[in-house]
Amino acid sequence: MSEFKVIWDEALISLFNDHAQDGSEMGYLMWADKLRFVNADAATITVAVASAFMRDQVIRKNIDKEIQNRITELVGQSYTIQFSIQDIHSLEGTAFPTGSVHAASPQPAAAKPVVSQPVASQPAAPQVQNFSVPSPTPSAPAAASPDLKCPGILPRYTFDNFIVGEENNYAYNAALAISKNPGKYNNPLLIYGGVGLGKTHLMCAIGNYLFHENPKRKVVYVTSEEFLNGFVESMGQKNGPQEFRNKYRKVDALLIDDVQFFQKKEQLQNELFSTFEALYKEEKQMVFTCDRPPAEMKDLDERVRSRLGRGLIVDIQLPSYETRCAIIRQKLKEQNKSLSPEVIDYISKNVTTNIRDLESSISRLISYSEIVNKEITLQLAQEKLKDILNPLTVGNVSIDIIIKVVANEYGLTPADLKKKNATKQVAFARQMAIYIARELTELSTTELGVEFNRDHSTIAHSLDKVENMLKTDEKLVEKKQLLIRSIRDYKNQI
Ligand code: ADP
Ligand code: MG
Repeated sequence: MSEFKVIWDEALISLFNDHAQDGSEMGYLMWADKLRFVNADAATITVAVASAFMRDQVIRKNIDKEIQNRITELVGQSYTIQFSIQDIHSLEGTAFPTGSVHAASPQPAAAKPVVSQPVASQPAAPQVQNFSVPSPTPSAPAAASPDLKCPGILPRYTFDNFIVGEENNYAYNAALAISKNPGKYNNPLLIYGGVGLGKTHLMCAIGNYLFHENPKRKVVYVTSEEFLNGFVESMGQKNGPQEFRNKYRKVDALLIDDVQFFQKKEQLQNELFSTFEALYKEEKQMVFTCDRPPAEMKDLDERVRSRLGRGLIVDIQLPSYETRCAIIRQKLKEQNKSLSPEVIDYISKNVTTNIRDLESSISRLISYSEIVNKEITLQLAQEKLKDILNPLTVGNVSIDIIIKVVANEYGLTPADLKKKNATKQVAFARQMAIYIARELTELSTTELGVEFNRDHSTIAHSLDKVENMLKTDEKLVEKKQLLIRSIRDYKNQI
C-alpha cells in the first residue's frame, strides 16, 4: 500500500476532530467512512466508493473537498480526489482509521446538549449511552446502480437533504448511527413528534441508506394503516396469514410509520408484538414513528408499549427560526428558484407550524409568481399566505372539534376539559382551548362558559391569562398555531 495512506489517515482523523468541535462529526464520519483509499500519484488521489449514490452523497456533503484541502495543508501540495466505483469490501484493510478517532475524540453526538426535554416517564440516560459512534462493521455492500430505488420508499427522502437544527439534531444523529450499525444497538428506534416535522423523512432516509449500502437487504417501509389493511386482507385468504407473516418477519429492516394508529386495535397489536419479537431476536432493525411518546399511548397494550420504547426514543421538536430559514433556502435551491431575503424572513417568522406548511408556502408563492410572471414582493407574500397563516378565518369550526383536538394534544379527553376540579395541567389545557375557541368561533364568553362548565368571569380570566403568556412565550405561540393547524386538519378530514 502506498505510504500516502498515512497522510490520508491523518487528514481523516484531524477532520473528524475538527468536526467534533461543533458536533458534526457523526455526519462527517458517516460519509468519510464510505471512502477507501486506493492509491495516489503526484496530483491525484484515487479513492474507492461502493456506488454512484454514495459518491454523490459524499460530493454533496463536500467531504471530498474537505479531505482534499486538508491533505493539501498537510503536504503543502495540491491534490484532486478521483472516485472509483467498486466493491469496497475487498479493500477493508483501508477503512476509516476509526480506532484512533475513538481514542482521540470526546464522546460524540450523544453528549451534545441538543436533546429536548425528555418526557418524564422516559428513561433518557441509558438510551443515550448506547448511542455513540458506531464501530465500523464491514457490511458487504454490493455496488448499487445510481438509479436503483429502494422499493416502496421515496428516493427523495435522504439524510443529505435533511436540514439539521437544534430541534432534530438528536433524531438525525440517532438515525445516522442506526443506518451505520443496524439491528444490534438501539433497536427499535422510535422517532416521535408533531405532524409535518420530518419523521417520515428521517425514517425513509434510514431505509434508503440501508438499501443503497447493500441492495440485497430487504428493507420494508409500511404505514400503520397499510399494515392493518394487509393484515385484514390476509385473514380472508387461504395462505394469507402465513404470507403476511413472511412479508414482515423475513426482512432485514422494518420501518412502520405512525404507530399511534395501532391504538385500540387489539388483534393488530398482537400481530405487531409477534413481528417485533421475531425481528428483535434476529437483530433486525426496526424503526417506528409516532405522533407522541409511547408513554402517552394510552390505548396500547402494555407489552407493545414497552417494546416500542425498548430501544432508543428520540423526538423532533418544532423548527426554530434559523432552521426554518435554512429549510426554505434548501427547498428553493432544490427547485432552482429564488425568493428575496425579506420574503424568506417573512415566511420563516410567520409559518411556524411545521415543515410541510413551509413547503406549501414556498410552492404557492413560486407557482403564483410563475403564472403571473411577477416577482414576489413582501406585500404579495403576505396576501398569498393569508389562509395558511390564519387557516380558520374562512369557514367556521365547531366548539366540539376544538375541545377534542386540544384535549387530545394534551393527552386528555374532552370530558377532562369540562370537569369541575382540575389539576394545573388540565386547567392550562382548558385555558388554551377557551382561548382558541374565542379566536375561531363566534361564541361569546357566556356561551363559552356553558361549553366549558365555567362562569363568565373564569372564561374572561382564562382569555387574559393566555393572552399575556402569548406576549412573552414564543413556544406557546407556536403551540397555539400548531393546535389551530391540527383543528383545521381535523376539520378537513371529516
Ligand atoms: P412527518 O412524518 O413528521 O409528518 P414528513 O417527514 O412527512 O413529516 O415531513 C414533511 C415534509 O417536510 C416532507 O416533504 C419532508 O421532506 C420535509 N422535511 C421535514 N423535515 C425536514 C428537514 N429537517 N429538512 C428538510 N426537509 C424536511
Ligand atoms: Mg409522516
